[in-house]
Amino acid sequence: PARLGPTQVAGERQAGQAGAVGVSLVEVAQALWLLLAALGLALSVSYAGLPVLGQGCFIAIGGVGTALLGPGGAGLPLGVAALLAVLTAAGLGHLVARGAARLEGAFFALATWALAWLMYRVLQAFPGISGGEQGLIRPTPARLISPVLGTTWVLTPLTHVVLAALVCAVTLIVVVRLDRGPGGLDLAALRTDPALATSLGVPVAVRRRAVLTATAALGGLSGCGSTVLLGLIAPADVSPLLSLQLFVAVLLGGTARWWGPVAGVTVLTALQPIADTLSSAAGLAPERARGVLTAALLVAVLALRGPMRALLTSVGGRRAAPPATEVAASLVGCARYVVRDQIVLEAVGLRARFGAVLALDGVDLVLRAGQVHALIGPNGSGKSTLLRVLAGDLQPAAGQVRRSGVCVAATELTRVRAGIARTPQRTVTLVRLSAARQVAIGARGGANPANAVLRSLLLTPSARREQQRHRLLVASALHCCGLTGVADLDPARLTVGDQRLLQIARVVATGADILLLDEPAAGMTAQERTKLIGVLRALAAQGVAVLLVEHDVRLVVAVADVMTVLDAGQLLASGAPAVVRADPAVRRAYLGEVSA
Ligand code: ADP
Ligand code: MG
Repeated sequence: PARLGPTQVAGERQAGQAGAVGVSLVEVAQALWLLLAALGLALSVSYAGLPVLGQGCFIAIGGVGTALLGPGGAGLPLGVAALLAVLTAAGLGHLVARGAARLEGAFFALATWALAWLMYRVLQAFPGISGGEQGLIRPTPARLISPVLGTTWVLTPLTHVVLAALVCAVTLIVVVRLDRGPGGLDLAALRTDPALATSLGVPVAVRRRAVLTATAALGGLSGCGSTVLLGLIAPADVSPLLSLQLFVAVLLGGTARWWGPVAGVTVLTALQPIADTLSSAAGLAPERARGVLTAALLVAVLALRGPMRALLTSVGGRRAAPPATEVAASLVGCARYVVRDQIVLEAVGLRARFGAVLALDGVDLVLRAGQVHALIGPNGSGKSTLLRVLAGDLQPAAGQVRRSGVCVAATELTRVRAGIARTPQRTVTLVRLSAARQVAIGARGGANPANAVLRSLLLTPSARREQQRHRLLVASALHCCGLTGVADLDPARLTVGDQRLLQIARVVATGADILLLDEPAAGMTAQERTKLIGVLRALAAQGVAVLLVEHDVRLVVAVADVMTVLDAGQLLASGAPAVVRADPAVRRAYLGEVSA
């Protein structure tokens, strides 16, 4: 760790280097440290869809922590103090992610905003910690001597510029790499539709925690950098206004583009002289002038968001989706080695209730490998509820679900990893992700997705092999669902039938061998239904067990090996379609009114 050499007082240093070049270098370094905080924030806001309005809090921890622990404070070496401060910020980020995990949208934003506000007020209230209005003035070491490396570092503004630029560049590279890899797909899924992401096996909570921890760590590092640069940290420097400014900076650049925060911070920095002019012209305090301008900018950004995005896409052009369909069709068709007709899923005595409604009342069900099992019943008879319980999306009040004889924990993530996947009744399309990219979300490599993200960042050989395997899985799933031709299209341009098939392809790519499909034929034309029958038969031929909720009895008879009828949460009949169809009770309860 670095040891302190001779020191200089902040004011003295600035006075000593107050040439035109020196001042501008300090400003550049300050802007770069701010950019680092914005880049970190963009990870949460633009990539993970978490509206973090409290980056100022993490910056404060980094800055105040370094000042309190480092030279002039507790006297730790600067490097150690900085590390501890950044780790503290990261730890708080992790805690926030845990605590606020259940909050959605505006509430999450409010919670993080409250945190920044609280930090600001606490710093103001305890001058013993924060140094009061004028802040903690820390004589910044002019040179650091590292006994380990035997070298001397001179902490000039130029060193800061180089260091901050380096850290920003590394962060940018990592973020861009992350966005292009499997981690980026996960983030795209969870910022658009967390429920869908979970159903495809994306560990949403884990990803959110990781992202928020990174955001906080980068915020902390930024605070630490600018505190050491200026030799000073005051509560006013980390007011909630800073959090708002950074949020505006990230919004300015639009979503999920690495250069967004860069553009945003540039605009914010350019705003500084304007604010100064305004403050001297109108006789406002500089802080107030900055507040007015930031607020005006935020209003402008929100009003101009749509037009700006349209302009940016038309100027920048769209990045072509990575080709996912290049794998030869001969490779396609992953064989699954299963014993046909073997029981793969067994539900016993399932019971589920919504308030007074008993949606499932002791339902038993058996699914076998290589069979299409149709589930029919009047509206409200509990079909969707049964699928939700089987998929782990809903906890049953009683009963068990066994996968090949073993009980599986009733969470969606464990069920997907155990090969049980569901498509919901509503159509969920992810905007701005090509069909192939959507299918790739579900195709995850190995048992440990966090490892997969790290390995793809480091470009290890195993990550390359995994990528290859992913491509194969994606191509196979698309081919299997007859979507190869539309793989690179924007999902908005797909027909209703193809969107439904895309839903199936997404879960097929997870490698699940038990598929729970809730009314996939809804809204399909006759031709598309025929295609669906082909897809379901092909899946069954590969050994997949399909549970199909469907109203159209003709389709059911055409595709199903087994048919089960639900009525008011109870099993009415189960068996071969022809037999069940002829059952008098079934005709009375259901078929009579539909097929007459
Ligand atoms: P189906 O899919 O067969 O049409 P559902 O499983 O959706 O039937 O619903 C079964 C019963 O449970 C219905 O009476 C419905 O009103 C009720 N139900 C389903 N989901 C909910 C929910 N989230 N909250 C309250 N009641 C629900
Ligand atoms: Mg339903």
